[in-house]
Amino acid sequence: MISKKGSAIPFVHNVTEKRLKEDLDLFRQKALELGAAGAEIIRADQLVVDERVRLKCLIPRCLRAGETPNCPPNTPDLDLVRKAIARYSRGLLIKTHVEPMSDFIPGNSKDKSGTDRSLLFHQKTANIVYEIERLAYKHGYSLAMGLGGGSCKDYLCHGLICQFKDSGRCRFPLRARPAMEALGIDVFDIIGKAGWSAYPLVDDPAEIPCATSVGLVLIN
Ligand code: SF4
Repeated sequence: MISKKGSAIPFVHNVTEKRLKEDLDLFRQKALELGAAGAEIIRADQLVVDERVRLKCLIPRCLRAGETPNCPPNTPDLDLVRKAIARYSRGLLIKTHVEPMSDFIPGNSKDKSGTDRSLLFHQKTANIVYEIERLAYKHGYSLAMGLGGGSCKDYLCHGLICQFKDSGRCRFPLRARPAMEALGIDVFDIIGKAGWSAYPLVDDPAEIPCATSVGLVLIN
C-alpha cells in the first residue's frame, strides 16, 4: 500500500463531541468487522472500580495470581486506576463469543487439545482490543488504552513461564496488558449496563447460551 505523504492524522487536542462520536462509531464498526460479537460505546463514568473485584483474583486464588506483572497483586493500586479512569470520557466495550463452549467449563475438557484451547479463552478479544487501541492511536488518541480479560500468560504465552518474571523481558511487550478485573473493574456490572448477559460456566453446557469474553479500550 502506498501512503500519501502528509496524510497522517495529528494527535487530538480538545476533541469536539462531533469528532469523538464519529471516531467512536468508526472504532465500533471496525471491532465488529474484526469478529466481535458486540461492541458498545460506553461513558467512562459507567465503570465501577471495586476492591471486591480485585480480591476475587486472590480469594479463592486464581492460578495466575502473582505469576505475571499483569496479574494481581502486581497490578496498579485501585486509587490510581480510579483517578486514571476519571480522566477518560469514553471507551469501547468489546465482546466475543467463545467456541467450543464445552472446552471452557472447568474440568470439562476430556483431552489435552481441549485443555490447550482453554488457555485461549480471551485470545480473540485481546486481538481485537489490540487492533482497536492501535487504530485509535493512529487517529490521534494518544492515551487510548486497551484492557483484556484473563491473563496474558494464557492467551499470549499459552501457559509457559512468564519471561518477564524470569528475566525482565516480556515476550509480547506491546500486547500484554492487565485484564479489566485485574484493575478492579466490575466487568459484570458494565456488561449489564451495556445490555449484555454473561453466564457462570458451571454444570451442564446445554443450559448455558454462550461463553463470553469481554475487553475494553478507553479512548479519550
Ligand atoms: S512474558 Fe508472557 S506471561 Fe509474562 S508478561 Fe509477557 S505476555 Fe504476560
